[in-house]
Amino acid sequence: MRLLLMGPPGAGKGTQSAALAAHHHIPAIATGDIFRAQVKERTPLGLTAQGYMDRGEYVPDEVTNAMVAVRLAKPDCTHGFLLDGYPRTVEQAVELDAMLAVAEATLDAVVVLTVDPEELVGRLRRRAELEGRADDTEAVVRRRLEVYAEQTAPLVELYGARGLVREIDGTGTVAEIAARIDEALAQRLA
Ligand code: ADP
Repeated sequence: MRLLLMGPPGAGKGTQSAALAAHHHIPAIATGDIFRAQVKERTPLGLTAQGYMDRGEYVPDEVTNAMVAVRLAKPDCTHGFLLDGYPRTVEQAVELDAMLAVAEATLDAVVVLTVDPEELVGRLRRRAELEGRADDTEAVVRRRLEVYAEQTAPLVELYGARGLVREIDGTGTVAEIAARIDEALAQRLA
C-alpha cells in the first residue's frame, strides 16, 4: 500500500497519518517532522532547512528529494508507506515517480484532506497557543497557506488525472474523518 496524504497546513494530516499507517502496517513518513527533528539536532540538513521553515517557504526540492530518497530506500518501505507532506511541488512529484519506477512500484491512492481556509487559520492559531511551533505565527501561517495554494494544490489535478485522488472532508471529529478515509480507500482498493 503506497499512499500520499495531502492537504493544506492545519488540515489534520499529522493527526490522521499515524492511525492510517498503523491500520495498513506501513511506516508514516512526514517530511515536516523529519525536518523539525534535524533542526532540533542542529544537523547540516537542519541548519539548511530552518531558514525556509521559519519563513513558511518550502525547503529546496533537491534537498527534500534527497532526504526522501534515503528514507524510502530503508527496508521498512519495501511493502509500502504513507507519505505525509511529500510531494509538495511538481518537481517533487516527478522525482517521486522516478524513485518508484526504479522499484517498479506505483502509488495506490492520494488522500486529500479539505478544510475551508477560515477554519485552517483558526486551527493553526489554537495550535500556536498549545504547541508554540515556530512557524505557526500569523504572518508565517498566511505565507504557508499561500505557498500551498501556489505550489501544492496543482498536484491534486496531476494525481486526479491518474484517478488516484480521494478528497475527504477534513472537518468533524478525528474518528469521523478517519472513518471517511477508510471508506474511501476500501472503495478505491476493492
Ligand atoms: P504544514 O502542515 O505547515 O505543511 P509540515 O510539518 O508538514 O507543516 O511542514 C513544515 C515545513 O517543513 C514546511 O512549511 C516546509 O518548510 C518544510 N517542508 C515539509 N515538507 C516539505 C516538502 N515536501 N518540500 C519542501 N519543504 C517541506
